[in-house]
Amino acid sequence: LGPARAAEVRALIHDVPDYPHPPVVFRDITPLLADGPALADVIEAFAAVVASHDGVDVVAGMEARGFLLGAPLATRLGVGFLPLRKAGKLPPPVERVDYELEYGSASIELRSGTLRPGARVLLVDDVLATGGTARAAAALVERCGGVVAGLAFLLELAGLGGRDRLAGRTVDTLLRAG
Ligand code: AMP
Repeated sequence: LGPARAAEVRALIHDVPDYPHPPVVFRDITPLLADGPALADVIEAFAAVVASHDGVDVVAGMEARGFLLGAPLATRLGVGFLPLRKAGKLPPPVERVDYELEYGSASIELRSGTLRPGARVLLVDDVLATGGTARAAAALVERCGGVVAGLAFLLELAGLGGRDRLAGRTVDTLLRAG
């Protein structure tokens, strides 16, 4: 995305204060998803990121907004898509990684047998915040025998340590917010 287009796309991500609870500022991508040309430009920008990688065999998206960006990107690239789901949403057998949240813990799951061992996986999500979800997703891919080619996010919330938590990995973000 060039600077002018990036500013237009950024304006389609609405900042909602105190949602779901204070002091979170929720970054709502639904206006962007509703805008055809903006959505197309975002998917094209992700595809340009992938072109700089050493090949991507499959896209994996984090529930739930990673599905909304990852599946069209997979179609654009001509590769398959793997949903990484919250606990209990996929039928068994699944592989699972547990991780810590600010309050409590969470789990992320992948249907066993859907990831070909050795496949190069691009992980996609809408927002990079603390990086905890993405780090668990990368660990899950590797536990299943995949290779993490990179992680791509629409919006990076700088200052929450997400990049540090993903140190050593290839991380691309299309937009940044303070
Ligand atoms: P984290 O694990 O802290 O990097 O959080 C990333 C996950 O939580 C992503 O799946 C995001 O969709 C979601 N998320 C975290 N913070 C926000 C926020 N401020 N606005 C919207 N989504 C968020």
